[in-house]
Amino acid sequence: MSQQPVDDLRALIGDAQRIVIFTGAGISTESGIPDFRSPGGIWTRYKPIMFDDFMRSAESRRESWRRKIETDKTMTVAQPNRGHLAVAALVNRGLCTAVITQNIDGLHQVSGVPADQVIELHGNSTYAKCLDCDTRMEIPPILEAFARDETMPECPSCSSEYVKTATISFGQSMPEAEMRRAEIATNNCDLMIAIGSSLQVYPAAGFPIMAKRVGAKLAILNREATELDQYADLLVHEEIGPTLGAAVGLN
Ligand code: NAD
Ligand code: ZN
Repeated sequence: MSQQPVDDLRALIGDAQRIVIFTGAGISTESGIPDFRSPGGIWTRYKPIMFDDFMRSAESRRESWRRKIETDKTMTVAQPNRGHLAVAALVNRGLCTAVITQNIDGLHQVSGVPADQVIELHGNSTYAKCLDCDTRMEIPPILEAFARDETMPECPSCSSEYVKTATISFGQSMPEAEMRRAEIATNNCDLMIAIGSSLQVYPAAGFPIMAKRVGAKLAILNREATELDQYADLLVHEEIGPTLGAAVGLN
């Protein structure tokens, strides 16, 4: 790894007072969770289940729990990596006000970012929710029953069969409170660092553009080119953990 990108990133961080970090699946690949669009990523294996299909078809709902059993084999054992720890260090030094994430793995919280500073735009897959009454349900008993004989979960409060991981599927409306919090954080930042996202999924990818519009600097740290590279004040096409770890001076 060359030293220049690390120095450039460190300098930009040193000049900032209100950083907002925006993350995608790429920050969690070093923890063993595949991203969507890299070779070997989730999309090379599965087509996403659209929200309408989930609502319309019991078979789609069954398929979503079959996949959950598969993806949980990596998700439930994954631990935060150097990239997550570097982000947590920025937050805990008071330099970063919020972490806006597209990830559903909960690893920012596990790495030490206070939950009220993590904004999960696409929800969280570590628990489930009733789509009719919002009752929270834990995943392990659901998967245990499903693994036995494909017994489908039912809401304990309202008996609804529309129980889903607490994530936002393609075609599902965005969570209003999180969108609003992300907007406020973005409007008040002086530097946004977009990390490990191909920046193709909207409305999430609108936040780095919004940051530029309000006069903040934008840095993009991602192995490959992204859709928004032309807006960046600093582009770093490197591995996340080693680069960010060095830039924030992690031991
Ligand atoms: P994406 O797969 O479209 O893009 C990930 C980007 O990260 C790629 O451009 C890739 O080159 C880069 N990358 C991967 N590992 C890297 C590394 N170690 N160093 C540097 N760059 C690296 O992901 P996205 O933009 O987040 O969009 C996909 C959607 O998938 C999101 O909405 C998210 O909800 C969901 N998702 C989440 C998880 C998770 O929670 N961990 C995993 C897969 C998908
Ligand atoms: Zn319910």
